[in-house]
Amino acid sequence: MTEGTERVVIVGSGPAGWAAAIYASRANLRPLVVEGAVIEENRLKGTLPLGQLALTTEVENYPGFTAGRLDEYLDSAIEKNRRKYMPPHTGHGIAGPELMELMRQQAASFGTRIVTDDVIEVDFGRHPFRLKLLGGQQIESLSVIIATGARANYLGLASEDRFKNRGVSACAVCDGALPRFRNKPLIVVGGGDSAMEESTYLSKFASTVYVVHRRDKFRASKIMADRTLANSKIQVKWNSRIDEVLGNEKDGVTGVRIRGTTDDSHSEDLAASGYFAAIGHTPNTDFLGGQLELTEKAYIKWTTPARTYTSVEGVFAAGDVADDYYRQAVTAAGTGCMAALDAERWLAAKGFD
Ligand code: NAP
Repeated sequence: MTEGTERVVIVGSGPAGWAAAIYASRANLRPLVVEGAVIEENRLKGTLPLGQLALTTEVENYPGFTAGRLDEYLDSAIEKNRRKYMPPHTGHGIAGPELMELMRQQAASFGTRIVTDDVIEVDFGRHPFRLKLLGGQQIESLSVIIATGARANYLGLASEDRFKNRGVSACAVCDGALPRFRNKPLIVVGGGDSAMEESTYLSKFASTVYVVHRRDKFRASKIMADRTLANSKIQVKWNSRIDEVLGNEKDGVTGVRIRGTTDDSHSEDLAASGYFAAIGHTPNTDFLGGQLELTEKAYIKWTTPARTYTSVEGVFAAGDVADDYYRQAVTAAGTGCMAALDAERWLAAKGFD
């Protein structure tokens, strides 16, 4: 092992990455977290540091953070200079960005080192493994934990692309409060929990939110679907798909054309100043360059049941990047912990302590 070789590098900074870092740092492995770069391209893709939870509002299902006033705790726990990266307290429970900041600080407090950059290339064909960063830095490491999560999908229409940043978004929490969306009709496409969450959030700003869903039943959990259906500002367009996002150079998005999925002859134009895609996710595995075995949906394959092992010995995967089934903050944190323990035991077994 040459000087400067890391023992564990963790790529990604959502719940999986920080849980792995907390465990690895407490095991004296001095982990290095590559948390992602703060660049416009990542903002547009939804891959900024702190992961998808940092793009949500209140987190109601992370154990330990029940509804109630946590202001005093959050004020004392979150460093003042980091508060600027998140919205103010709502005064009720914990928000996604706050929870992520607490995880980051917890990892740092045990000695985790953090690099704010993207990994753009890996070489797992040699050992120690090598990682290349966007800023040009090269890192060598004996073990690697991949926890890069997943990002929101778009439908892939040319008209969606054309109006990105001008009314087209996949993150209501990031963009919903912009003046262009206030007191105007807005569109959300999708029928899962994300669509329910986005439409409920947007209903605070919009005059009407149309949820456009391709079937006659939501995929979302009952509690979130019921909340959406009970909201008088939300109208559901069942059995409908988006044909085109309408707009012009001056105003950006001005509406959408929807078409029936059961009756193709039926189409309708809905006026709207914004369009939000909430149709699922794609794992962030491109940078791996095919060096780890992936599933047919491009998620990293866990090769051994109940372990975080990947197809390359010494490389572990945690969180949504390897999980297209549970995809919850708490399961991501759980597998992050498992990956740190797996890495620690693998390093010890190989005599690298
Ligand atoms: P999802 O559950 O996979 O739902 C995606 C939705 O988009 C489905 O309704 C799907 O329609 C629709 N869709 C997919 N591709 C489409 C296309 N090409 N055209 C039109 N519609 C399309 O994804 P998600 O809502 O992002 O949720 C992902 C995971 O995160 C879930 O496990 C969810 O529970 C979790 N989550 C939890 C919370 C929370 O608890 N607060 C919030 C957000 C997300 P079909 O139904 O017809 O397939």
